[in-house]
Amino acid sequence: MDIDEFDDFKILLWLILFLLFGIIIITCKRDPGDYIMTVNGPVPSSQTGITLEHEHILVDFIGADSTGYSRWDKKEVIIKALPYIDDIKKNGVNTFIECTPSYLGRDPWLLKELSKQTGINFITNTGYYGARNNLYVPESFYSSGPAEISALWINEFINGIEGSGVKPGFIKIAVDPADTLSPEHRKIITAAALAHLKTGLVIASHTGPEKPAFEQINILKELHVDPSAFIWVHAQRGSIESNILAAEEGAWVSLDNVRERPGLEPGAPNSIKWYANRISELKKKNLLNKVLISHDSGWYDPAKPNGGTFNGFTDIFDFLIPALKDEGLTDTDIDLLLVKNPQKAFTIRIRTLNPKL
Ligand SMILES: [Zn+2]
Repeated sequence: MDIDEFDDFKILLWLILFLLFGIIIITCKRDPGDYIMTVNGPVPSSQTGITLEHEHILVDFIGADSTGYSRWDKKEVIIKALPYIDDIKKNGVNTFIECTPSYLGRDPWLLKELSKQTGINFITNTGYYGARNNLYVPESFYSSGPAEISALWINEFINGIEGSGVKPGFIKIAVDPADTLSPEHRKIITAAALAHLKTGLVIASHTGPEKPAFEQINILKELHVDPSAFIWVHAQRGSIESNILAAEEGAWVSLDNVRERPGLEPGAPNSIKWYANRISELKKKNLLNKVLISHDSGWYDPAKPNGGTFNGFTDIFDFLIPALKDEGLTDTDIDLLLVKNPQKAFTIRIRTLNPKL
């Protein structure tokens, strides 16, 4: 090889290296990594920190035909909520998943302002709340099929909610606790399945008892949605056996309404000790990695003077965690419940049983 040939070889080598770097950069750009969707846009899942996965800032129970943003003053709601957000910040909470659905007081502008004032990640949702016999679904629901309904939810994920620029971070639906789902509620879970397959948003379904929980899981499976895309909300109302079965299928088991209830005997259903015991039973079955916990607490109610009584979000820290430690749970277990599980559940990812979809 003479000098000229050596120079050509060096240039070629540099060219190859340059191309390789280019390919690496382009590939990295294509895969932004795991993320959750907050009211301020995507945040890497690894940065969510301690998360309260089912709470409320505001709930308006008046019904779909009468609710609207004019029913509350955002400033007043924020003044009321701020001390409770300060309390959870003291407990290290970094992410607050606000589960109030549309037509029940969902307010993306309010959550965005709260996030700005507190520095906490807030996450809102899309979907319809069918429980309470469809009081909170809009009139258009009845004349629409599941595909049309899912298109509205998908549109919110792509374009944001009502011009706010805020995108939903999950699908929140609700069904009545009957043994069999009504045709309307079959339509809602079907729409949720279709929306999940397009968006990768996890489906949190206010459900309660086990029969409607498994009926929803079965509908999802028929539509090729993996049960890990489903959060069984209020799963504490199902038996321990049903919780185990759902978790073994891959569904998320959300034990909500954790609250210190001073009147209850320790160990009585819904006492802190009862929750701690149920969580410990799930751990014994190696299913702690499918358990979520929440207070399902809050909130400002516009129908009440000054928003009524606002319940805080600290009983998990003040009462449940000590009770879990008494049951032998470790710091790693607590980290799973409050950080890793919510992180995994709310990461935007399509979970399908059919890899071709
Ligand atoms: Zn709730």
